[in-house]
Amino acid sequence: MDGKSDLTALTRDELSALTAGLGQAKYRAGQLYRWLFARRVQSIAEMSDLPAAFRAQLESAYFVGWPVEVRRDVSTDGTIKLLLELSSGRRIETVLIPDFDEDGTAERLTVCVSTQVGCAMGCSFCATGRMGFSQNLHAGEIFGQAGLADRIARERFGRGISNVVYMGMGEPLQNYEQVVRSVALLQDPETLGLGIRRVTISTVGLASRIRRLADDGVRSSLAISLHAPDDAKRSSIMPVNRSARTDLDALREAVVHYTKTTGRRVTYEYCMFRGFNDSTSDAANLVKVARWAPSKVNLILYNPVPGLGFERTGEADLERFIRVLVAGGVTVTVRRSRGQDIAAACGQLALEDAG
Ligand code: SF4
Repeated sequence: MDGKSDLTALTRDELSALTAGLGQAKYRAGQLYRWLFARRVQSIAEMSDLPAAFRAQLESAYFVGWPVEVRRDVSTDGTIKLLLELSSGRRIETVLIPDFDEDGTAERLTVCVSTQVGCAMGCSFCATGRMGFSQNLHAGEIFGQAGLADRIARERFGRGISNVVYMGMGEPLQNYEQVVRSVALLQDPETLGLGIRRVTISTVGLASRIRRLADDGVRSSLAISLHAPDDAKRSSIMPVNRSARTDLDALREAVVHYTKTTGRRVTYEYCMFRGFNDSTSDAANLVKVARWAPSKVNLILYNPVPGLGFERTGEADLERFIRVLVAGGVTVTVRRSRGQDIAAACGQLALEDAG
């Protein structure tokens, strides 16, 4: 943007340094922070209680770079997929998923945010993985997706978002610093004030970064995309597993460290692929993984992506699989896919109409 910098990329401390550098009183930094992250204004001109001279100083070098809505698709089940444009001109997708209770009130409003444009991890069942990697998002761009979804949720459902999951485009722990900063932004009582259990980082299993999340005291829940319960199968669909630094042994050590350090259990995400990872012996191997440390398993019914060669497990096989897990003492949930008719479900985000 004409050589200007994005204000939403700055931390509270960086905003303080900026304000001081421009010769403004200290409290102006707090005002600036609230205009950006609590009120989420679209421009510096809207920051009406900042002196005109300060706004002019800001405008000469900065802009407000929230992701901009380019397109909105609404599923028959209420799921909303947003196509958003970043200040770089590149595009991402964000999904708002309402869960309704019996009287039709939106009880839970979950936002699935993207952390990268594309993804370098190359999982063979995932449409995003096919795009390759092109850009990391900064913390303001990640937070901004939740901020925009919160506004849409208030307009449509009469209440703000309740949960954020880092399960959109990209591998969050490859963009560690910005993801951690965005978690802090989401949890600030002055902004969206979301608690630990309401923010979930999801990773393919970058073991050293999982340890770091624990050691840095990052206040979020953790989900691990497992998808296969042994090294041979996992390596065949998830290239990340081929390295000794991120195979199942490394993952086990990291998960044990994480659960001991944080006192929180982890969730294993397990996408069911017909005839690939849904046999009784796969279920028995998954029980072994689930017993590494306090955990639960979330089975996901896969949304076939044309041309990727995977199919969804049938109901009878799913039930048999669940019985083995339950008999093994594993806590299991099943996630039925949402927003399939608008390609908003897991693994389907691929900017098919991004232009
Ligand atoms: S599943 Fe996640 S980590 Fe794997 S390619 Fe897709 S976006 Fe990347």
